[in-house]
Amino acid sequence: LPAEFKDATPLITALEKAGFEAYFVGGSVRDALLGKRIHDVDIATSAYPEEVKQIFKRTVDVGIEHGTVLVLYEAGQYEVTTFRTESTYQDYRRPDEVTFVRSLAEDLKRRDFTINALAMNCQGEIVDLFQGIADLEDGVIKAVGDASERFNEDALRMLRALRFASQLGFRIEGKTFDAIVEHHRLLAKISIERIQIEFVKLMLGTHRRNGLEPFKISTCYQHCPGFQEKATELRRLIELPEQPMTSEAMVWLVTFYCLEIPEKDWRLLLSQWKLSNQMIKVVIDSLKGLTYRLAHSWTADWLYELGAEKVRLIEESLLYFGQEPQVAAALAMYEALRIHSIQELAVNGQDLLKATDLKPGPWVGRCLGAMEKAVINNSLANDRASLLAYAERLLAESTDEK
Ligand code: ATP
Ligand code: MG
Repeated sequence: LPAEFKDATPLITALEKAGFEAYFVGGSVRDALLGKRIHDVDIATSAYPEEVKQIFKRTVDVGIEHGTVLVLYEAGQYEVTTFRTESTYQDYRRPDEVTFVRSLAEDLKRRDFTINALAMNCQGEIVDLFQGIADLEDGVIKAVGDASERFNEDALRMLRALRFASQLGFRIEGKTFDAIVEHHRLLAKISIERIQIEFVKLMLGTHRRNGLEPFKISTCYQHCPGFQEKATELRRLIELPEQPMTSEAMVWLVTFYCLEIPEKDWRLLLSQWKLSNQMIKVVIDSLKGLTYRLAHSWTADWLYELGAEKVRLIEESLLYFGQEPQVAAALAMYEALRIHSIQELAVNGQDLLKATDLKPGPWVGRCLGAMEKAVINNSLANDRASLLAYAERLLAESTDEK
């Protein structure tokens, strides 16, 4: 038993001692069998939430209406979820009602794919009601039960299939794939936040192409902001070098660049994807920077404007566009800049006002901006005397103009 399960075994034992059934379930069992790193160990039990809360001292109600109680045990946190079934889905995403049941089999039946419908007890014995182990061995993503029905219940499962194909390098079983092709329109009912999470996971997967091919063929991509009418450009995204992507910002930068989204649409589409304002800024600045960098070498102005984080991102992204990333060299150039922000200038606005005896006005900002540029480009030393002399020259010139 991997350490993550050993640490959580006392929880299972405590539930069993109290007369309930309890198993490890879902992604952790799948990943353990695949020899992959395990993130969260989830536990399913026949105990109802109130019963779970009586057994453990430290618990948090994270989703009690769905039957989930977070149990804090030693250094870990574990989601303990009551066996449940989900009856009639009206909105193609949220079950109308969750019914708690006492049977593991009922709980496994409502799970999405056979590889995700495995349970394991604390002796390491696997409960495999849907040939999930065989599908793991064959590398197959297959719906539990009737694929069409399952996607009608919850359309998000179609995107989950694509992202598991990318994360695991598995193929999607024939009937399951046919059902995705048939039902892709149901994705219109799914919130963009949920679509975004699955799309990013798909793009970050180590077998990206394996998820993107069925994403295109099934036309699921039609439900993604900015992807409509982009079949040709999507092919380019599919055929990128295989190198896995390492960050969410990289996903958006590379995707928008490949899809040739016009600059005027960047902000609108990124906000339609419901990205945070901070992420939108990183992506837009990086798209501009990448467009520049693909045709030129870095200049002090560009490095300064972008900052180290975006310079690294852009430089790393070059490998997807047939150029060799030179991350270390670019960052060294950035570090060598005399200043990295306007606060590092040896004078500030107050100093300018004092030295010139002029009234505050827009000229202060303009003057600081000009000094900033001159210092970055090494045509002006960053010391008080040089900066103030420069300011005086500048002011003299601008009054001359008048
Ligand atoms: P990850 O490694 O991304 O966490 P995971 O398989 O653990 O993968 P989760 O979204 O954490 O995925 O869900 C945990 C388990 O809950 C799944 O393995 C699956 O059994 C079940 N599950 C999750 N989402 C759905 C869904 N939309 N429909 C049916 N079952 C689901
Ligand atoms: Mg999980």
